[in-house]
Amino acid sequence: MRYAVFSDIHANLEALEAVYADMDRRGVDEYICLGDLVGYGASPGPVMERVMDRTSRIVAGNHDYAICGKLRLDPFNTYARQAAEWTMDQLDDEWIDTLDQLPLMTSVDNVTCVHATFIAPERFDYILTAYDAELNFEGIGARIGFIGHSHIPVNFVMRDRLLHNEHRTLELQPGDRALVNVGSVGQPRDDDPRASYGVYDTEEESVRIHRVTYDIDTAANKIYEAGLPTLLGERLYRGK
Ligand code: ZN
Repeated sequence: MRYAVFSDIHANLEALEAVYADMDRRGVDEYICLGDLVGYGASPGPVMERVMDRTSRIVAGNHDYAICGKLRLDPFNTYARQAAEWTMDQLDDEWIDTLDQLPLMTSVDNVTCVHATFIAPERFDYILTAYDAELNFEGIGARIGFIGHSHIPVNFVMRDRLLHNEHRTLELQPGDRALVNVGSVGQPRDDDPRASYGVYDTEEESVRIHRVTYDIDTAANKIYEAGLPTLLGERLYRGK
């Protein structure tokens, strides 16, 4: 079984379409979406439609929570808040309701998925350091935990000791447990503007992170035309 695990699409339809084409080329069996379908980008409705088409295994991100009114906008920075308010105006009640129904955690096979953390997913804290990861291994309750949220692909492996690395390919050894951040489809922030997602192959016992080029010009122009903050388009070129 091959699972495509993708996160943080942020209403970037061009990045999502490119990632889907890459998944189709490689061949995957199931799809898991780790949330933040919307917020920042200019295509919230079409992105929600495309994600729902492929999977019902979707967890809520902090932007999804904010846009359906479950999270206050105050902690968001100005750009995120403006984009969230714009997105609320774009989505009809049915889509808002769909966001409202998303769970915080989902499990399948020997995998557990959340947007942010396993300990208290509703807080949307970050797992950035080995210490954060170590605390969170307790909450995974499965062999592999997948996360998004930071928009930076990275993995942590519990072997004899905790290993922390940015390798694109993770080959699991017997007894390994892993926590993998698959990066962001629609707004990468690791200085690489290409869309990021992961494939977990249960037979190979591997997780591979793939990077995909997409039409940034179109995605950025839609952001400018929508009247969203221009920085949200500019940052796509920098992968920041
Ligand atoms: Zn995000």
